[in-house]
Amino acid sequence: MGQVWIDDTTLRDGEQTAGVVFANSEKVRLAQLLTEIGVPQIEVGIPAMGGDELEAIKEIVALDLPTSILAWNRAVISDLEASISTGVQAVAVSISASDIHIEHKLRRDRAWVLESIKRSVDFAKSRGLYVSLNAEDASRAEMEFLLEFALAGKEYGADRLRFCDTLGILDPFQSYERVKTIIEQTGLAVEMHTHDDFGLATANALAGVRAGAAYVNVTVNGLGERAGNAALEEVVMALKCIMGQDLGIHTSRLRELSEYVARAAGRPLSVSKAIVGDNVFAHESGIHADGVLKDPRNYEAFAPESVGMTRQLVIGKHSGSTMVKFKFQEFGITLSDEAADQILARVRRMAVQVKRSLFDKELMYIYQDYQRGNGQHA
Ligand code: MN
Repeated sequence: MGQVWIDDTTLRDGEQTAGVVFANSEKVRLAQLLTEIGVPQIEVGIPAMGGDELEAIKEIVALDLPTSILAWNRAVISDLEASISTGVQAVAVSISASDIHIEHKLRRDRAWVLESIKRSVDFAKSRGLYVSLNAEDASRAEMEFLLEFALAGKEYGADRLRFCDTLGILDPFQSYERVKTIIEQTGLAVEMHTHDDFGLATANALAGVRAGAAYVNVTVNGLGERAGNAALEEVVMALKCIMGQDLGIHTSRLRELSEYVARAAGRPLSVSKAIVGDNVFAHESGIHADGVLKDPRNYEAFAPESVGMTRQLVIGKHSGSTMVKFKFQEFGITLSDEAADQILARVRRMAVQVKRSLFDKELMYIYQDYQRGNGQHA
């Protein structure tokens, strides 16, 4: 595997999520945040939409950020002219590669698709733009035509092919095979654009990287159409911790980034969201909490600080006496084994009654009740 780059599309495919709209000020802020975190390319939107979308893109370009700003286009000259008017240096030129899309969406034929690729890529390159040729619905494209598609782009100077698993229907093994074939047969750099309809977006992106893809298109929190896209925080951390590819992203700001996007999109972060959810570093069950107290590496895949989070040791129905002792030690109270056992019994009873874990204050009430029951006073 060579160097891998991410290209964030929260502002384009992320905002295409049904019901999500970013204010222009949020688009600008998010572009700044992504740049600060070290994202080398940001897909900022669709200039051909005009209106606020066009204004937001111009505002982002005017910031002159030290990152590549890319705009999305259909393989149409007028779309590219709109992109050029914003001053972006990079464009995605998108057109369908599968027969089902060509016949039932575009209502054209393969020859027309190849002609559109040639015309639009040639035009974009003649204007000095970096060009990502997007093969929409590449998963369902016949491989022979997909290769022709890629080579048509390459012939006119496309810088990479974006392999779009538009419907999220591939498994990682299929992704690996298809991407490997494209790279071997065309020599073109490949970018993965994967969707999460079967919960495989991140896995498919990694499979593409394993096959030689140098770029991964991601969104913060996996925001995106239907079940969403491959999540930036998942791809970055999985590449770093599982595949040993450090992308140079400042991961300690990932939680901050996720919170910002969750708020701006009006899509609260699930507690069990991979990498940045509240529960990722929360431990309650006796065996796990005890293991974490002995050494966090026993039950944590990576350190909470590495993604800007903190560990939470939760006291509840599944807690053990080690945790109870540890928790009271934090309050400055040393419990005997017998006291810890008795308090644990009360903790479990109360947790079942209230159907949740307990707050610190509730633990103190339990402690006070326990003391009164034993005729002791603090
Ligand atoms: Mn998409």
